[in-house]
Amino acid sequence: MLLSRLQTEDEVIAEIAAISGQDVRACYQCGKCTAGCPLASAMDLMPNQILRLLQLGQHEQALQSRTIWQCASCLTCAARCPKDVDPARVMDALRTLLLRRGLVHVEIPKVPADLLAEAPQQALIGGFRKFVGY
Ligand code: SF4
Ligand code: SF4
Repeated sequence: MLLSRLQTEDEVIAEIAAISGQDVRACYQCGKCTAGCPLASAMDLMPNQILRLLQLGQHEQALQSRTIWQCASCLTCAARCPKDVDPARVMDALRTLLLRRGLVHVEIPKVPADLLAEAPQQALIGGFRKFVGY
């Protein structure tokens, strides 16, 4: 599909850029991010497919993907990208967009006390930051 610049300028792309500093339009679909992603086999959409959906204006499909929650922010994709796109930051921005819509994956008051007592604090804080929108 041929894309004009006008087709790829929209509010969601601008919001992602404002949150992450990343211009998803720069991606040219080489696939190096996906090839190096350690979690690709568990993802329903590959990292490069998330970028492509955003370029095509298919934001909801990207936002509904499990991939954006499975991304471990390991930054392998960012290190491999020849276009200086950081897919990890884009995933983070997509999670932020959803959390701003009020989606909450973890209700802190409902976390079992024994888990709070035993789980590493760093893991808990990391999880709360990733999955909680308040
Ligand atoms: S490595 Fe970069 S340019 Fe290549 S598909 Fe991934 S994000 Fe796009
Ligand atoms: S940051 Fe996320 S998308 Fe990128 S390689 Fe790591 S797990 Fe995969």
